[in-house]
Amino acid sequence: MNLSAIRAQLAQLAVTPAKTLGQNFLHDGNLARWLVAQVEPQPGERLVEIGPGLGALTEHTLARGAQLTAIEKDGRLAAHLRERFQKETATGQLAVVHGDATLFDVRALWPDGPVTVLGNLPYYVTTPLLFHFCGPAAPTERALLVMQRELAARLAATPAQAGDYGILSLVIQRRWRVQFLRTLPASVFTPTPKVASGAVWLTPRAPGELPPCDGETFEQLVRRGFSQRRKQVGKLLAVLLPDGDWPAAATRLGVSEKARAEELDLARWIALANLVRPVEPAAAQDGAREIFDVVDAANAVVGQASRAEVHARGLRHRALHIFVFNAAGELFLQRRSPWKDTHPDKWDSSAAGHLDAGESYAAAARRELREELGLDAARAAATELREVAELGPARPETGWEFIRLFVAQCDGPFRPPPEEIAWGGFFPLAIVERWIRQRPGDFAPGFLECWKRWRAL
Ligand code: SAM
Repeated sequence: MNLSAIRAQLAQLAVTPAKTLGQNFLHDGNLARWLVAQVEPQPGERLVEIGPGLGALTEHTLARGAQLTAIEKDGRLAAHLRERFQKETATGQLAVVHGDATLFDVRALWPDGPVTVLGNLPYYVTTPLLFHFCGPAAPTERALLVMQRELAARLAATPAQAGDYGILSLVIQRRWRVQFLRTLPASVFTPTPKVASGAVWLTPRAPGELPPCDGETFEQLVRRGFSQRRKQVGKLLAVLLPDGDWPAAATRLGVSEKARAEELDLARWIALANLVRPVEPAAAQDGAREIFDVVDAANAVVGQASRAEVHARGLRHRALHIFVFNAAGELFLQRRSPWKDTHPDKWDSSAAGHLDAGESYAAAARRELREELGLDAARAAATELREVAELGPARPETGWEFIRLFVAQCDGPFRPPPEEIAWGGFFPLAIVERWIRQRPGDFAPGFLECWKRWRAL
């Protein structure tokens, strides 16, 4: 749509663009086409558009045959979009959601698989939208976002752009590769905003691209390190180091003792996080160190073997799963870390694990609440942990495990170990149900067995 078409349309809808809604409409058709072309939406591909407005980007996305969910806060524009794209709405190619995108339940997107996110974002709420749609609760696999140029520059910055480089750059770049695509002059929007915009392209980091680290420690360090940009970073961070020895840490990182926060690149911030809270996936999965009871077909103990041997030889052994529910009745699911030796990246029960040799199911369940969810004894005791089912004989579907299922009640927060768990969150049961039906391959097989059994209870 060109400028006069947009003005005419707004007049017809009696819409006066609202600053409070960040309403600056793109009136350069070539740019709109160019932005969508960067995404290269394929027929049938699932996209989510944030703030579609009058449909400048929507039009080109739909023309390429993509499946689109468009979330628009302004009811008049949402209604207009449904009317403008009547055919696509009727066939289900387009779903217009009238609502605030910061409140959109991104968890509901998982059952249909990964999504691409697209949006010329409303300025007043860009950062919350960025964290909402590019956070671990959303199945976003790539994103093309238009935002204020200065913010786009901060997102993409490295130490070479010291002024822009900071908390936002590092927190986002730990999980995403950020590419600054181009500047969009203010003149291509109506009403004309005060500043230019920038388009950025986000693609997720591949597992293994960066060393693992504890995300919370990383963010704590970065936030503190940049809290006073002019100050030497060692003066701010020494208190967080286990031995308080910043000069030694600086030597290991290969930076000057006098360095400021902006001189440490992403790899060094990750290395620093590992000095404070080391993450060593390999050590956590030392298959020779853990010893399990080996059992017979009647679940009676017949011997012992290491974890590695039990798994390599398919020996029967014992395990448990825990379903933790919050007060809203939602189930906490954990996403296994990409470094797990079995089922990496898959979604799994709230907590699960093997019984150590000589350990009872109940004792192992209490231990898993502690080890996998980070609950202390008092909080673990308050979860009303109870056993609800046995999953029948050990068989290939259970990984040759005799599994018992426990349930517990707890709203969190949890502190799962990053070696084991990439992320975890509560999901409404209806979403889990649909997700399992549509994408069973997203889950660890042991969880699927537990879910089947729990549904039958
Ligand atoms: N995509 C259109 C374009 O490029 O012309 C409009 C972009 S305009 C910068 C931002 C759009 O987001 C507006 O249509 C505005 O009504 C909408 N919006 C503002 N706040 C929103 C929110 N919290 N959730 C969803 N949409 C929002």
